[in-house]
Amino acid sequence: MRWKGRRVSSNVEDRRGSSGAKVGGISIVGLVVAFVAWKFFGVDPQQAYQATQQITAAQSQTGTAPEQLSAEQKEASDFVGTILADTEDTWTSIFQQLGQSYVAPKLVLFNGRVQSACGTAESAMGPFYCPSDQKVYIDTQFFKEMRQQMGISGDKNQTELSRQDQAGDFAQAYVVAHEVGHHIQNLLGISSQVQRAQAQANRTQANQLSVRLELQADCFAGIWANRNQERTQFLEAGDVEEAMDAAQKIGDDYLQKRATGQVVPDSFTHGTSQQRMHWFETGLKSGDLNQCDTFNSRSI
Ligand SMILES: [Zn+2]
Repeated sequence: MRWKGRRVSSNVEDRRGSSGAKVGGISIVGLVVAFVAWKFFGVDPQQAYQATQQITAAQSQTGTAPEQLSAEQKEASDFVGTILADTEDTWTSIFQQLGQSYVAPKLVLFNGRVQSACGTAESAMGPFYCPSDQKVYIDTQFFKEMRQQMGISGDKNQTELSRQDQAGDFAQAYVVAHEVGHHIQNLLGISSQVQRAQAQANRTQANQLSVRLELQADCFAGIWANRNQERTQFLEAGDVEEAMDAAQKIGDDYLQKRATGQVVPDSFTHGTSQQRMHWFETGLKSGDLNQCDTFNSRSI
């Protein structure tokens, strides 16, 4: 796929580098400060420890300046920023047609561990969207693993992100577009409707609703590919197949197995690979929001 030379979104928050990895867990400095505070100032150690934790968290929030990023890491943020900008242009125009204004999500790049409004996420547990802070979280290490471990076009490319025109890039773009799809569901109130329905449903029904929500995000990713193709002619031969391959492989088992943090990873229940392909293609061919009603479709 072609991606260089287009607008790069300013909504990328780069938290890679050493500061991001320190958030959470037991901080030795925090314990020492808490002990000193208790010993010398009579402060409740638990309170003092919590206070130092907050300071540490605040520091890592503000200290987001990427430290000594490699050329590959820089390229990773340029790539992700370009795809994010593509989704912004796509959804701004679709929302305009609906008479609404689009509020773009932020996209946080991290490595190691990250603090989100939805909890702490561990390294490489996969991308996710947090509705509470309206941010997409992506560990660029995940892209690397997509290629190396899952075999998504990983044969020749060992850099953190593929170079221009190398295989694997569209699969990564698709992952970003899928996560932005969850943001769209949040903005349109679909996610909260599903949550309410799930609260009254039994486990099987709740699970089916999750699948439909995931398939709709795939359909929304297809809409992005359709509109972006119209606008920029970015697709190249083999790109769509590549995304299908990724959709097949980024399944429940892969990410659930890796999940260790508090955040429920994305792809909790994504549906079968066939369903995923069907809905991505539906969005891709139609470019139409109305075609993505996975909830009222008999055959999902
Ligand atoms: Zn998802």
